[in-house]
Amino acid sequence: MTDHRQTLVTQKLFSLLQEIEEVGEVPCSNFPDAFHPEPGNGGYQDTIWAKELCSKCPVLQSCRTYAIDAIEQSGIWGGLTPIERRKIRTTERNATKALYGNQ
Ligand code: SF4
Repeated sequence: MTDHRQTLVTQKLFSLLQEIEEVGEVPCSNFPDAFHPEPGNGGYQDTIWAKELCSKCPVLQSCRTYAIDAIEQSGIWGGLTPIERRKIRTTERNATKALYGNQ
C-alpha cells in the first residue's frame, strides 16, 4: 500500500471510529464472535445474523467503505464478507482500468 493510500485508509478508520463514538454503540460491539464466523462451526448462521445486524447499523456505509479500502481480510464489515469486499474491489479496479487504462 502506498503512503498516500495508507493515509487515506487511516483517515477513514479515524472517521469511522468518530462516527461510532457519536452514535454511542454499534451492533457488533455486543457480539464480536458473530462478526468473525468460523467455517463449519455455525459460521454460516453467524454470517447471516451479522449481516442482519449490520443492516440496522447507523455507520454501515462508513464501515463498509473503510473495510473495502483497507483490504480487511477477515470478518463481516459493513454487512459484507471478505469475498464480497474482494469482488467490489475487483469491480472498482476494472472500472478504473477501463476509464484510465493501466497507469
Ligand atoms: S456495519 Fe460495521 S460497525 Fe456496524 S455492526 Fe456491522 S461491522 Fe459493526
